Amino acid sequence: MDGARTSPEIGFGQQAFTRPPGAPPLPRIARGEGVWLIDTEGKRYFDASSGPVASNLGHGHPRILAAMEAQARQAVFAYPSQFESAANLEFAERLGRLAGPGLDRSFIVSGGSEAVESAIKFARQHAVATGEASRWKVIGRQPGYHGNTLGALAVSGDEHAHEVFGPLLRAVPRVPAPLSYRLPPNHTVESHARACAQALEDAILREGPETVLAFIMEPVGGLATGALVAPDSYYATVRQICTRHGVKLIYDEVMSGAGRTGRFLAADHWPDARPDIAVLAKGLSAGYAPLGAALVSAEMVRVVAEAGGFMHGFTYNAHVMSCAVGAAVLREVEDADLVGNAARMGELLLGKLQALAAHSPLVGDIRGKGLLLAVELVADKHSKAMIPLEKVAPARVQQLALRHGLALYCRRTSRGAYGDWLMLSPPLTVTAEEIGILAERLGAVLDDYAAELRA
Ligand code: PLP
Repeated sequence: MDGARTSPEIGFGQQAFTRPPGAPPLPRIARGEGVWLIDTEGKRYFDASSGPVASNLGHGHPRILAAMEAQARQAVFAYPSQFESAANLEFAERLGRLAGPGLDRSFIVSGGSEAVESAIKFARQHAVATGEASRWKVIGRQPGYHGNTLGALAVSGDEHAHEVFGPLLRAVPRVPAPLSYRLPPNHTVESHARACAQALEDAILREGPETVLAFIMEPVGGLATGALVAPDSYYATVRQICTRHGVKLIYDEVMSGAGRTGRFLAADHWPDARPDIAVLAKGLSAGYAPLGAALVSAEMVRVVAEAGGFMHGFTYNAHVMSCAVGAAVLREVEDADLVGNAARMGELLLGKLQALAAHSPLVGDIRGKGLLLAVELVADKHSKAMIPLEKVAPARVQQLALRHGLALYCRRTSRGAYGDWLMLSPPLTVTAEEIGILAERLGAVLDDYAAELRA
């Protein structure tokens, strides 16, 4: 034998595509129960981030399971071009009422990326129908994330993805997101946010306003910015700029929508900056079925319908089972006041994280709204120095967390260009006692990781 090593086998599971060959196996899910996920060995993990900020109602929710069973006994799938469904109507009506005027019609798809694609195509077709066919450019933010299909990725601000997939993506103008932790020299959070809003207007003027269709942004950031929240004035200014130049404002609320930030839409925190279009997914079905929606006004729908109808669709548009799940989730969000609970438990969790930050050398920043919170990890709080890339902070913290029975969603942005953060976004059903357990386990994980970094 020449001692040559054979490379590890490539398994059949989804993991084989995304994790390095030979990476330690992940726990295998057996079942879920409230905020807990339980593996086939019986080990319990607190779902501290709701998976990728999706499981808003926790796991095994009896009302959702009952609604799924009832729907399954009736009809699971009927193509919406052939049949109307009660599930579609109930879901869309509830969603319209919760989202409010101007966003009360929804085009229903299977997830966030599809919803973003739908929003952009709808805005474009509306522009064509209203005699503004010269408008096609969509301005995005850097960093920002709107999904992984080629269109959604094109408007996302992720340098690494653009490097790899660039030739396949349409180059779109991007403007800086108003990051609040590491500021450019001589800037305050407020002045930087003002400069970022100005950069949007500059970009529109540079491109030619008559060519700009839309500006897309996450009102409360997700994984790309670690739950970034801008100063209030930013939202109003962006809205004014878009209105001034006839540019549609699209809020990507795939993560922030459906009650997570303590309002049904994150947009509800800034009533003077309502978007023209909003995009939801994730919490809309709380992970019980693939579901997303592009929310627009009835007037926009009328214009597009009169011009021949929306030239868009998928096999699983307004899927009957997904809509039944969405309707049941929204019923529960209202009946159990989960939006209020997100606001209350978010305050409690924020306080616990601040207490952790006081003693952990790794917690540089905590930000977010309601139960959409992020902790930014640093090597040095004073200098805000990032953890060296070779320490693979997010992956390692995720591993340590599993040992402590905590399932965490973590991110190193664009190969470390912006920072490392952990999303703290438990199900909106979480109780005060459970928040205590989450904080205690997170403290132990951070202590372990700090000790490793010192070693
Ligand atoms: N937009 C935002 C803000 C997201 O966070 C995500 C997913 O994380 C998406 C869009 C894409 O959603 P999906 O993964 O359901 O396609």
